[in-house]
Amino acid sequence: MSLLDRHRAVMPTWMPVYYGEDALEIVSGSGRRVTDATGRTYLDFFGGVLTTMIGYDIAEISDAVRSQIGTGVAHTSTLYLIRQQVELAEKIARISGIPDARVFFTNSGTEANESALLMATNVRRSNQVLAIKNSYHGRTFGTMAITGHRSWSSSSLSPLSVNWLASADRLRGRMAGLGDTDLIDAAVDDLREVLATVTAGDVAALIAEPIQGVGGFVHGPDGLLGAYRKVLDESGILLIADEVQTGWGRTGDHFWGYQAHDVVPDLITFAKGIGNGYALGGVIGRAEVMNAVPAISFATFGGNPISTAAGNAVLDYVLDHDLQGNAKRVGTILLDGLRALDTSIVAAVRGRGLMIGLEFVRPGTTEPDPAVTARVFDLCRQNGLLVGKGGLYGNVIRIGPALTLTEAEARDGLAILSEAVMTADTEIR
Ligand code: PLP
Repeated sequence: MSLLDRHRAVMPTWMPVYYGEDALEIVSGSGRRVTDATGRTYLDFFGGVLTTMIGYDIAEISDAVRSQIGTGVAHTSTLYLIRQQVELAEKIARISGIPDARVFFTNSGTEANESALLMATNVRRSNQVLAIKNSYHGRTFGTMAITGHRSWSSSSLSPLSVNWLASADRLRGRMAGLGDTDLIDAAVDDLREVLATVTAGDVAALIAEPIQGVGGFVHGPDGLLGAYRKVLDESGILLIADEVQTGWGRTGDHFWGYQAHDVVPDLITFAKGIGNGYALGGVIGRAEVMNAVPAISFATFGGNPISTAAGNAVLDYVLDHDLQGNAKRVGTILLDGLRALDTSIVAAVRGRGLMIGLEFVRPGTTEPDPAVTARVFDLCRQNGLLVGKGGLYGNVIRIGPALTLTEAEARDGLAILSEAVMTADTEIR
């Protein structure tokens, strides 16, 4: 029996895993490359799922984890002090941009968002939350309720009362075709209308991804969150920035995605890349918000010594090697190369740094084409390149490699992806 058949026999059928019938089993990795069970090697342009942020088998990270394992303590309890955790919290608080920040560690992005929602709703004594259509925030009761993406949001029985703002999708919907200034005006009007009509006036928070990740790397103009913030401030509504995909320099221009928006959020949530594969997430926030909810002051495994040893090594690596600068440099090569493609099946090449999306449509229209997207995805894989898929209609190819991606690797991957797009373009005619 194949591994995929064994998986089907023992795991729930609704698990949204594995791309296709010929799912890969990755058995090893080095740098930005992984090898599957058949011995074939691939350049990973998706960095796991933006999780392997430094790369595979990186000595500094592996050594830090090995050294913690060498102490004999994989985990004790958050009832005792954990040096790795305290040191990482100090570094993250310092770099967060939030004055007098506190950090609460979790095991995942979902838990981080769930915790942020708990904090915001408790502080504001309201269960009303604003979220953005096409968002993705996690897999629990609360986080699915604020996920505005049909295939990922199946909780209609949430304890939260959620109202929705339009996403900054420039291809379709109420923001279609708008330039930056008009889009910000339309978004602010939308927020005011939602607040004035469908909320009871005492909203706890707005949660937003600076660049929508699972939604297909959709993002509004710089300054959008700041414009929202001015309206939110009129009623004391908190702003939560979900930086699970956008944090740690990935967007190139900034260390945090929110920094493109002339605003400082009340709460930031993070996860994915900071552990480089070890499970680590958390919330950063203003002391008066974070200290208001003593009941969430620990999670058994949140910030455990192994994950935080990895986290410290990852954060040091990002800063010591200026990976934000690398994301900008190498991301620009990719963005320029993809924008230069002469094709009518790509309606948008968007993103920033090493977070780039290509949206596929029927030639010359804005009608989503998931089939051609799947074809490009398959062609890439056949030629040794792993990319991600996403978007509301499954019609976006996503690139989110390790931030250590070299210029040569970027050009190799760009060549494979470009050829796949042009082949699909020819086939469809
Ligand atoms: N928030 C965003 C923006 C995400 O992209 C994700 C995961 O893809 C999550 C939250 C949930 O994180 P996790 O899968 O670690 O629970």
